[in-house]
Amino acid sequence: MDTTIGIERDEQDYLFAGGSGLAITEDVWKRAACRDAEPEIFFPISDRDVVSRTAALRVCSGCTIRSECLEVAMRDRSLLGIWGGTTEADRERLRRPRRVAVA
Ligand code: SF4
Repeated sequence: MDTTIGIERDEQDYLFAGGSGLAITEDVWKRAACRDAEPEIFFPISDRDVVSRTAALRVCSGCTIRSECLEVAMRDRSLLGIWGGTTEADRERLRRPRRVAVA
């Protein structure tokens, strides 16, 4: 069995997720909580668009494929907007190397 980030990969039925290089089955994406949400809320006009951002993050918080979605967005820097419960700024922070305190 071939797996990608813990998802069984069906060669006949998968979608590539942007430029992430990951293959995620269409069945997985069908479970996305945002499928029935307003797409616009996932693309806030700016960091000041708190209403859209909050609404999108609320949808993501109940999504069963949040970790897979975040993995896609972490790998593909070209993706804009809210993915996996994170904003673009959140993802940039997560990509930064962590500093380890030295005693
Ligand atoms: S985690 Fe990803 S797939 Fe799930 S609701 Fe949020 S943007 Fe959509």
